[in-house]
Amino acid sequence: MAFVVGDQAVDGAKLLAQVRAWAQELGFSQIGVAGVDLAGAEPGLLAWLAAGWHGEMGYMAAHGLKRARPAELVPGTVSVITARMDYLPRAAPEGWQAIEWRRIADPAQATVSIYARGRDYHKVIRARLQTLAERIAATIGPFGHRVFTDSAPLLEGELAARSGIAWRGKHTLALHREAGSMFFLGEICVDIALPLAEPASAHCGECRACLDICPTQAIVAPYRLDARRCISYLTIEHPGPIPVELRPSIGNRIYGCDDCQLVCPWNKFARRSTLPDFDARELLASPTLLELWAWSESDFLRRTEGSAIRRIGWARWRRNLAVALGNALRAGADGGVRRALGQALASTDGFVAEHVAWALQQGAC
Ligand code: SF4
Ligand code: SF4
Repeated sequence: MAFVVGDQAVDGAKLLAQVRAWAQELGFSQIGVAGVDLAGAEPGLLAWLAAGWHGEMGYMAAHGLKRARPAELVPGTVSVITARMDYLPRAAPEGWQAIEWRRIADPAQATVSIYARGRDYHKVIRARLQTLAERIAATIGPFGHRVFTDSAPLLEGELAARSGIAWRGKHTLALHREAGSMFFLGEICVDIALPLAEPASAHCGECRACLDICPTQAIVAPYRLDARRCISYLTIEHPGPIPVELRPSIGNRIYGCDDCQLVCPWNKFARRSTLPDFDARELLASPTLLELWAWSESDFLRRTEGSAIRRIGWARWRRNLAVALGNALRAGADGGVRRALGQALASTDGFVAEHVAWALQQGAC
């Protein structure tokens, strides 16, 4: 399949083979290509938005159906290059899931989602996709393109499925038979007609482990996530107070939640990253709640520089820690928690103060 760029005929299949080789050099594990007709996904997107399951993520609704129409989002787009980048840290040992379960079960520990313990993936993937686009341009000449990663305007899971990269599991995350779900996705909308990949087929079968394990019952039915109940949403995206009835289920998860991925049988095939970027930072590898609670705002800003965690800001960080500390108190793990919360109460204001007061009450439950 050939197309013309400027006055040059380009062999699409040959170019795609080159793109795959470059992508591997750049740390990507897989490249796919999807077309721009995602009409089949539009009813599901509209129903999800109509149900209000996107919570306060107004940006999800802001682009409307453009999210399902890449050619409207980036005029001129005729194909979407999709990319997968594995993020399990290079040093993750065999049995890493068991280590994570033990951490989650220890009320004094702080659990940060695995993907967020290293460098901000937005920066890593965006830069590398941009490099990939530049290599294409150096070969075929200037062409129209725009790079996305974890970006609200695009239906990433749908594009991943259509481009053969992954199917959407019942937890709504992308899954691969040989790589589980511990990977990031990125896309390049391009104005060149590359050969399309075969769509990925689904392999959840009768399994429903993710639905059963979810601490807040956020997966309300297979393939249907009420983000308003999801701990990832509540600890990262949600801007205000965390609903009181959901706080106990959050446990010690202070940034994101991996439970539905930890329990997924396909993650025995999860792959380690080839890049050092996703190695856990020392301070985030295995912190206790009290160690993190002792950080000042300037500590937070300095120590989360270049990390995705910094995006949530100081108030949400303290809110999340206060909830986890309250859960530690209820679980009987004081060890200085009550004193640390009490000391902070006088100097805390806004909605964080209410979370600290709530946390202190948990010791009396
Ligand atoms: S991330 Fe956690 S809270 Fe969200 S759906 Fe998965 S298990 Fe449930
Ligand atoms: S836990 Fe089971 S149902 Fe859920 S995504 Fe994995 S395979 Fe699918």
